[in-house]
Amino acid sequence: MRITALAGGVGGARFLRGLLHHLDSRADGPHEVTVIGNTADDVTLHGLRICPDLDTVMYTLGGGIHPDQGWGRAGETFGVAAELAEYGAEPQWFTLGDRDIATHLVRSRMLGLGYPLSAVTEALCARWQPGVRLLPMSDDPIETHVVIDDPEGEPSADGTPAVKAVHFQEWWVRLHAAPVARQILAVGIEQAKPAPGVLDAIAEADVVVLPPSNPVVSIGTILAVPGLRDAIRATKAPVVGVSPIIGGAPVRGMADACLSAIGVQTSAAAVADLYSDFLGGWLVAPGDAQSPMPEGVTLRAVPLLMTDTEATAAIAGAALDLAAELG
Ligand code: GDP
Ligand code: CA
Repeated sequence: MRITALAGGVGGARFLRGLLHHLDSRADGPHEVTVIGNTADDVTLHGLRICPDLDTVMYTLGGGIHPDQGWGRAGETFGVAAELAEYGAEPQWFTLGDRDIATHLVRSRMLGLGYPLSAVTEALCARWQPGVRLLPMSDDPIETHVVIDDPEGEPSADGTPAVKAVHFQEWWVRLHAAPVARQILAVGIEQAKPAPGVLDAIAEADVVVLPPSNPVVSIGTILAVPGLRDAIRATKAPVVGVSPIIGGAPVRGMADACLSAIGVQTSAAAVADLYSDFLGGWLVAPGDAQSPMPEGVTLRAVPLLMTDTEATAAIAGAALDLAAELG
């Protein structure tokens, strides 16, 4: 079976680890998993190109992830960060570990030599052997920026408060998504093309899976790459998704702050609605079993907490069962 999944960072990576575990336990292999990773969280800091979501998937599936945090490297040290702080080098709100920096050095050097991000990701994965084919959604730089009020800025003539755009990472990591997001923009996306292999992976899939990644800044940005959403609508494969929202709240993180920015309720049903033009099946938590589904979407209620790999494998298995029923 060829499975193609879209993925952000921690939520996507944990789901994928469960999916691989589930596939290992099946007798009908071999299976091929292609992951289309979000690159709109990418940022350049201290001259290094950082791809947080791709790295979270790579480290999680390759066995290098910090187990409790869910992002960053296990056994990390922070010697470089301490030295940078001594120089007063900004930003200091985004901590880079020493081990992690090696990844960013290799990536930045290869990008500097002219390799596309897809080739760089493949090279990094040669070390980590994540057990999936990990493709960036695009080789073109795309960055999510968030428009927030700027208390220090001059209000306009009619009294409208000043606003400013900050990089998504600054809003998320430094500001903890506390300032209301007036707008969330994926800068550069209109000119971006899907990375090589992305559209084929969707067209040739037997199943397309949406893990419980952030519907706005992870799945939303992937779907916004020109041509990508159309490819998902056009694929013959059933598309099944897992709700990141349980009982009206994100399980971890601040996805509610992203959903409000696009005027969408924080509920399993409202997220399904965002995908209603292609979604065939939607897994929700048992407490959300009464969710009204968009026309044509089959709802299935199963426990959705990814507490450990076994529990997550069961969620992935339920997603594939639902896909098989939808044919
Ligand atoms: P990020 O890029 O690191 O923020 O990660 P993702 O975008 O891939 O996933 C973030 C989403 O994962 C959040 O919106 C959470 O609601 C969701 N999530 C985290 N843990 C769980 C879980 O145990 N179950 C479910 N259903 N969703 C989860
Ligand atoms: Ca992310």
